[in-house]
Amino acid sequence: MIHTVAKEDLHIGVSACLIGEKVRFDASNKPSNFCIKEFSQHVTYKAYCPEVAIGLPIPRPTIRQIKKDDVISVSRPDGTGDVTEALQAYGKKVAGMTSYLSGYIFCAKSPSCGMERVKVYSPEGNALVSDGVGAFSREIMAANPLLPCEENGRLNDPLIRENFVARVYAYKHWQNLEASGLTKHKLTTFHSQYKYTVMSHDLVAYKSLGQLLARADMPLEEMAKEYISQLMAALSIKATRKKHANTLAHIQGYFSKHLQSNERQELCAQIDAYRNGLVPLVAPLTLINHYLLQHPKDYLAKQAYLSPYPDELRLRYAY
Ligand code: SF4
Repeated sequence: MIHTVAKEDLHIGVSACLIGEKVRFDASNKPSNFCIKEFSQHVTYKAYCPEVAIGLPIPRPTIRQIKKDDVISVSRPDGTGDVTEALQAYGKKVAGMTSYLSGYIFCAKSPSCGMERVKVYSPEGNALVSDGVGAFSREIMAANPLLPCEENGRLNDPLIRENFVARVYAYKHWQNLEASGLTKHKLTTFHSQYKYTVMSHDLVAYKSLGQLLARADMPLEEMAKEYISQLMAALSIKATRKKHANTLAHIQGYFSKHLQSNERQELCAQIDAYRNGLVPLVAPLTLINHYLLQHPKDYLAKQAYLSPYPDELRLRYAY
Protein backbone atom coordinates (compact mmCIF):
# COMPACT_ATOMS: atom_id res chain seq x y z
CA MET A 1 0.00 0.00 0.00
CA ILE A 2 1.20 3.46 -0.80
CA HIS A 3 0.28 4.99 2.52
CA THR A 4 -0.33 2.77 5.49
CA VAL A 5 -2.08 4.30 8.46
CA ALA A 6 -2.35 2.66 11.85
CA LYS A 7 -5.86 2.48 13.29
CA GLU A 8 -4.75 4.54 16.30
CA ASP A 9 -3.57 7.33 13.97
CA LEU A 10 -6.67 7.62 11.83
CA HIS A 11 -9.37 9.55 13.69
CA ILE A 12 -12.92 9.80 12.38
CA GLY A 13 -15.65 11.91 13.96
CA VAL A 14 -18.99 10.15 14.21
CA SER A 15 -22.49 10.78 15.50
CA ALA A 16 -22.49 8.73 18.70
CA CYS A 17 -25.78 6.94 17.97
CA LEU A 18 -24.27 5.43 14.79
CA ILE A 19 -21.73 3.41 16.73
CA GLY A 20 -24.31 2.05 19.15
CA GLU A 21 -24.50 4.64 21.93
CA LYS A 22 -28.08 4.89 23.20
CA VAL A 23 -28.28 8.66 23.08
CA ARG A 24 -31.28 9.30 20.81
CA PHE A 25 -34.44 11.10 22.00
CA ASP A 26 -36.08 7.74 22.80
CA ALA A 27 -32.94 6.28 24.42
CA SER A 28 -32.29 4.13 21.34
CA ASN A 29 -29.35 4.06 18.97
CA LYS A 30 -29.03 3.90 15.20
CA PRO A 31 -26.26 1.39 14.61
CA SER A 32 -24.49 1.52 11.26
CA ASN A 33 -23.14 -1.87 10.20
CA PHE A 34 -20.42 -0.30 8.11
CA CYS A 35 -19.29 1.96 10.97
CA ILE A 36 -19.40 -0.71 13.66
CA LYS A 37 -18.33 -3.88 11.86
CA GLU A 38 -16.11 -2.76 9.01
CA PHE A 39 -14.65 0.74 9.22
CA SER A 40 -14.00 0.42 12.96
CA GLN A 41 -11.33 -2.20 12.21
CA HIS A 42 -9.24 0.50 10.56
CA VAL A 43 -10.07 3.79 12.27
CA THR A 44 -10.44 5.25 15.74
CA TYR A 45 -13.76 6.97 16.33
CA LYS A 46 -14.27 10.20 18.18
CA ALA A 47 -18.00 10.11 18.97
CA TYR A 48 -20.16 13.16 19.62
CA CYS A 49 -23.78 13.51 20.56
CA PRO A 50 -24.36 17.27 20.49
CA GLU A 51 -27.85 17.10 21.99
CA VAL A 52 -26.63 15.24 25.06
CA ALA A 53 -23.50 17.40 25.22
CA ILE A 54 -25.56 20.58 25.55
CA GLY A 55 -27.47 19.09 28.46
CA LEU A 56 -30.58 17.55 26.93
CA PRO A 57 -31.65 14.41 28.80
CA ILE A 58 -32.07 10.81 27.58
CA PRO A 59 -34.90 10.26 26.80
CA ARG A 60 -36.04 13.74 25.75
CA PRO A 61 -38.78 15.41 23.72
CA THR A 62 -38.03 15.47 19.99
CA ILE A 63 -36.64 18.61 18.41
CA ARG A 64 -36.88 19.84 14.84
CA GLN A 65 -35.81 22.67 12.55
CA ILE A 66 -38.47 25.38 12.32
CA LYS A 67 -38.36 28.27 9.86
CA LYS A 68 -39.94 31.55 10.79
CA ASP A 69 -39.32 34.81 8.89
CA ASP A 70 -36.44 33.17 7.01
CA VAL A 71 -34.67 32.24 10.24
CA ILE A 72 -34.21 28.56 11.08
CA SER A 73 -34.13 27.53 14.71
CA VAL A 74 -34.02 24.16 16.45
CA SER A 75 -36.59 23.57 19.14
CA ARG A 76 -39.45 21.34 20.21
CA PRO A 77 -42.28 21.13 17.65
CA ASP A 78 -44.29 23.73 19.63
CA GLY A 79 -41.40 26.20 19.46
CA THR A 80 -40.34 25.91 23.09
CA GLY A 81 -36.90 24.83 24.28
CA ASP A 82 -34.85 26.61 21.59
CA VAL A 83 -31.40 24.96 21.47
CA THR A 84 -30.10 26.57 18.26
CA GLU A 85 -27.43 28.70 19.89
CA ALA A 86 -26.31 25.92 22.23
CA LEU A 87 -25.88 23.49 19.33
CA GLN A 88 -24.05 26.07 17.24
CA ALA A 89 -21.73 26.99 20.11
CA TYR A 90 -20.98 23.34 20.80
CA GLY A 91 -20.33 22.76 17.08
CA LYS A 92 -17.83 25.65 17.03
CA LYS A 93 -16.15 24.30 20.14
CA VAL A 94 -15.78 20.78 18.73
CA ALA A 95 -14.64 22.12 15.34
CA GLY A 96 -11.90 24.09 17.06
CA MET A 97 -10.60 21.02 18.87
CA THR A 98 -10.70 18.47 16.07
CA SER A 99 -8.40 19.56 13.25
CA TYR A 100 -6.74 16.12 13.64
CA LEU A 101 -9.86 14.35 12.32
CA SER A 102 -9.56 12.86 8.83
CA GLY A 103 -13.27 12.37 8.23
CA TYR A 104 -16.71 12.63 9.81
CA ILE A 105 -19.78 10.39 9.57
CA PHE A 106 -22.98 12.20 10.48
CA CYS A 107 -26.39 10.76 11.29
CA ALA A 108 -28.77 11.58 8.44
CA LYS A 109 -31.92 13.68 8.87
CA SER A 110 -31.11 14.81 12.40
CA PRO A 111 -31.82 18.51 13.08
CA SER A 112 -28.49 18.58 14.94
CA CYS A 113 -26.25 16.15 13.02
CA GLY A 114 -27.74 15.90 9.51
CA MET A 115 -25.33 16.81 6.73
CA GLU A 116 -27.98 17.75 4.18
CA ARG A 117 -31.67 17.31 3.34
CA VAL A 118 -32.84 17.83 6.93
CA LYS A 119 -36.59 18.50 7.16
CA VAL A 120 -37.56 22.10 7.92
CA TYR A 121 -41.03 22.82 9.33
CA SER A 122 -43.27 25.87 9.54
CA PRO A 123 -44.22 27.13 13.04
CA GLU A 124 -47.63 25.53 12.38
CA GLY A 125 -46.00 22.11 11.97
CA ASN A 126 -46.09 21.71 8.20
CA ALA A 127 -43.04 20.17 6.52
CA LEU A 128 -41.79 22.95 4.23
CA VAL A 129 -38.63 21.62 2.55
CA SER A 130 -35.95 19.01 3.10
CA ASP A 131 -32.88 21.13 2.51
CA GLY A 132 -31.77 21.91 6.04
CA VAL A 133 -28.36 21.22 7.58
CA GLY A 134 -27.90 20.17 11.20
CA ALA A 135 -27.10 23.02 13.57
CA PHE A 136 -24.07 21.14 14.93
CA SER A 137 -22.83 19.55 11.68
CA ARG A 138 -23.03 22.90 9.87
CA GLU A 139 -20.41 24.33 12.23
CA ILE A 140 -18.11 21.31 11.86
CA MET A 141 -18.26 21.44 8.06
CA ALA A 142 -17.91 25.24 7.89
CA ALA A 143 -14.78 25.20 10.05
CA ASN A 144 -13.22 22.24 8.19
CA PRO A 145 -14.14 22.65 4.51
CA LEU A 146 -11.59 20.01 3.42
CA LEU A 147 -12.79 17.36 5.87
CA PRO A 148 -14.37 14.37 4.07
CA CYS A 149 -17.92 14.10 5.45
CA GLU A 150 -20.69 11.61 4.79
CA GLU A 151 -23.98 10.40 6.24
CA ASN A 152 -24.82 6.89 7.40
CA GLY A 153 -27.59 6.32 4.85
CA ARG A 154 -25.52 7.42 1.85
CA LEU A 155 -22.73 5.08 2.92
CA ASN A 156 -24.95 2.14 1.97
CA ASP A 157 -24.27 3.07 -1.67
CA PRO A 158 -21.06 1.20 -2.68
CA LEU A 159 -19.83 4.04 -4.90
CA ILE A 160 -20.39 6.73 -2.26
CA ARG A 161 -18.85 4.53 0.42
CA GLU A 162 -15.74 3.90 -1.68
CA ASN A 163 -15.48 7.57 -2.53
CA PHE A 164 -15.70 8.61 1.13
CA VAL A 165 -13.09 6.12 2.34
CA ALA A 166 -10.71 7.04 -0.50
CA ARG A 167 -11.06 10.72 0.43
CA VAL A 168 -10.39 9.94 4.09
CA TYR A 169 -7.14 8.14 3.30
CA ALA A 170 -6.00 10.77 0.79
CA TYR A 171 -6.72 13.52 3.31
CA LYS A 172 -4.87 11.68 6.06
CA HIS A 173 -1.92 11.27 3.68
CA TRP A 174 -1.99 15.02 3.14
CA GLN A 175 -2.25 15.77 6.87
CA ASN A 176 0.84 13.62 7.49
CA LEU A 177 2.67 15.36 4.67
CA GLU A 178 1.91 18.77 6.16
CA ALA A 179 2.93 17.63 9.62
CA SER A 180 6.27 16.42 8.25
CA GLY A 181 7.03 19.89 6.84
CA LEU A 182 5.97 20.63 3.32
CA THR A 183 8.51 21.27 0.54
CA LYS A 184 7.97 21.77 -3.19
CA HIS A 185 9.55 18.41 -3.84
CA LYS A 186 7.20 16.65 -1.40
CA LEU A 187 4.22 18.40 -2.95
CA THR A 188 5.24 17.35 -6.47
CA THR A 189 5.86 13.76 -5.34
CA PHE A 190 2.47 13.66 -3.63
CA HIS A 191 0.80 14.91 -6.80
CA SER A 192 2.53 12.29 -8.94
CA GLN A 193 1.25 9.56 -6.61
CA TYR A 194 -2.34 10.74 -7.08
CA LYS A 195 -2.20 11.05 -10.88
CA TYR A 196 -4.45 8.10 -11.62
CA THR A 197 -6.68 8.69 -8.61
CA VAL A 198 -7.50 12.21 -9.80
CA MET A 199 -7.86 10.99 -13.38
CA SER A 200 -10.51 8.51 -12.27
CA HIS A 201 -12.55 11.36 -10.76
CA ASP A 202 -11.88 14.40 -12.92
CA LEU A 203 -9.43 14.59 -15.82
CA VAL A 204 -9.77 18.37 -16.01
CA ALA A 205 -8.69 18.69 -12.36
CA TYR A 206 -5.60 16.57 -12.98
CA LYS A 207 -4.47 18.99 -15.67
CA SER A 208 -5.23 22.10 -13.62
CA LEU A 209 -3.46 20.67 -10.56
CA GLY A 210 -0.37 20.03 -12.70
CA GLN A 211 -0.54 23.60 -14.01
CA LEU A 212 -0.86 24.91 -10.47
CA LEU A 213 2.31 23.11 -9.36
CA ALA A 214 4.17 24.46 -12.41
CA ARG A 215 3.63 28.06 -11.30
CA ALA A 216 6.89 29.67 -10.30
CA ASP A 217 5.31 32.87 -8.98
CA MET A 218 3.33 31.37 -6.10
CA PRO A 219 4.60 30.99 -2.53
CA LEU A 220 4.66 27.34 -1.39
CA GLU A 221 2.16 27.84 1.43
CA GLU A 222 -0.38 29.45 -0.90
CA MET A 223 0.20 26.80 -3.55
CA ALA A 224 -0.29 23.97 -1.03
CA LYS A 225 -3.53 25.50 0.24
CA GLU A 226 -4.89 25.85 -3.27
CA TYR A 227 -3.66 22.40 -4.22
CA ILE A 228 -5.35 20.47 -1.42
CA SER A 229 -8.53 22.47 -1.84
CA GLN A 230 -8.69 21.58 -5.57
CA LEU A 231 -7.67 17.98 -4.92
CA MET A 232 -10.36 17.33 -2.30
CA ALA A 233 -12.96 18.96 -4.57
CA ALA A 234 -11.88 16.70 -7.45
CA LEU A 235 -12.00 13.57 -5.30
CA SER A 236 -15.57 14.46 -4.30
CA ILE A 237 -16.67 14.03 -7.91
CA LYS A 238 -17.98 10.52 -8.56
CA ALA A 239 -15.53 8.15 -10.22
CA THR A 240 -17.80 6.40 -12.71
CA ARG A 241 -17.22 3.06 -14.45
CA LYS A 242 -16.37 4.93 -17.65
CA LYS A 243 -13.78 7.12 -15.92
CA HIS A 244 -12.25 4.12 -14.14
CA ALA A 245 -12.03 2.22 -17.44
CA ASN A 246 -10.30 5.22 -19.02
CA THR A 247 -7.84 5.36 -16.10
CA LEU A 248 -7.15 1.63 -16.35
CA ALA A 249 -6.43 2.05 -20.06
CA HIS A 250 -3.88 4.78 -19.25
CA ILE A 251 -2.20 2.51 -16.71
CA GLN A 252 -2.14 -0.27 -19.24
CA GLY A 253 -0.55 2.10 -21.75
CA TYR A 254 2.15 2.98 -19.22
CA PHE A 255 3.51 -0.52 -19.00
CA SER A 256 2.03 -2.37 -21.97
CA LYS A 257 5.33 -2.55 -23.85
CA HIS A 258 6.74 -4.55 -20.96
CA LEU A 259 3.94 -7.12 -21.11
CA GLN A 260 3.85 -10.27 -23.21
CA SER A 261 1.22 -10.23 -25.94
CA ASN A 262 -1.01 -12.75 -24.11
CA GLU A 263 -0.74 -10.62 -20.92
CA ARG A 264 -1.72 -7.50 -22.86
CA GLN A 265 -4.73 -9.27 -24.33
CA GLU A 266 -5.81 -10.57 -20.94
CA LEU A 267 -5.61 -7.10 -19.41
CA CYS A 268 -7.50 -5.55 -22.35
CA ALA A 269 -10.21 -8.18 -21.91
CA GLN A 270 -10.51 -7.47 -18.18
CA ILE A 271 -10.72 -3.72 -18.72
CA ASP A 272 -13.40 -4.22 -21.39
CA ALA A 273 -15.30 -6.60 -19.10
CA TYR A 274 -15.19 -3.96 -16.37
CA ARG A 275 -16.24 -1.20 -18.78
CA ASN A 276 -19.24 -3.33 -19.80
CA GLY A 277 -20.29 -4.04 -16.24
CA LEU A 278 -19.39 -7.74 -16.32
CA VAL A 279 -16.80 -7.71 -13.53
CA PRO A 280 -16.13 -5.38 -10.59
CA LEU A 281 -13.20 -2.95 -10.48
CA VAL A 282 -11.17 -5.33 -8.36
CA ALA A 283 -10.82 -7.73 -11.34
CA PRO A 284 -8.65 -5.60 -13.68
CA LEU A 285 -6.85 -4.05 -10.69
CA THR A 286 -5.87 -7.48 -9.38
CA LEU A 287 -4.45 -8.33 -12.78
CA ILE A 288 -2.52 -5.05 -12.95
CA ASN A 289 -1.08 -5.63 -9.47
CA HIS A 290 -0.16 -9.16 -10.50
CA TYR A 291 1.68 -7.93 -13.61
CA LEU A 292 3.38 -5.25 -11.56
CA LEU A 293 4.95 -7.95 -9.43
CA GLN A 294 6.30 -9.62 -12.55
CA HIS A 295 7.32 -6.38 -14.28
CA PRO A 296 8.03 -3.90 -11.46
CA LYS A 297 7.45 -0.26 -12.27
CA ASP A 298 8.30 2.05 -9.43
CA TYR A 299 6.12 4.89 -10.70
CA LEU A 300 3.06 2.65 -10.91
CA ALA A 301 3.78 0.83 -7.65
CA LYS A 302 3.60 4.17 -5.84
CA GLN A 303 0.22 5.13 -7.29
CA ALA A 304 -2.45 5.63 -4.64
CA TYR A 305 -5.00 4.46 -7.21
CA LEU A 306 -3.75 0.87 -7.02
CA SER A 307 -4.08 0.65 -3.25
CA PRO A 308 -5.88 3.66 -1.78
CA TYR A 309 -7.03 2.03 1.50
CA PRO A 310 -6.86 -1.37 3.23
CA ASP A 311 -7.89 -4.16 0.84
CA GLU A 312 -9.85 -5.80 3.69
CA LEU A 313 -12.55 -3.13 3.28
CA ARG A 314 -13.36 -4.81 -0.07
CA LEU A 315 -14.72 -1.57 -1.46
CA ARG A 316 -13.90 -2.34 -5.07
CA TYR A 317 -15.80 -5.62 -5.14
CA ALA A 318 -19.24 -4.04 -5.40
CA TYR A 319 -19.07 -1.90 -8.55
S1 SF4 B 1 -28.24 12.17 15.59
FE1 SF4 B 1 -26.69 13.35 16.70
S2 SF4 B 1 -27.85 14.43 18.27
FE2 SF4 B 1 -29.17 12.79 17.53
S3 SF4 B 1 -28.79 11.08 18.92
FE3 SF4 B 1 -27.40 10.84 17.19
S4 SF4 B 1 -25.53 11.84 17.84
FE4 SF4 B 1 -27.12 12.55 19.23
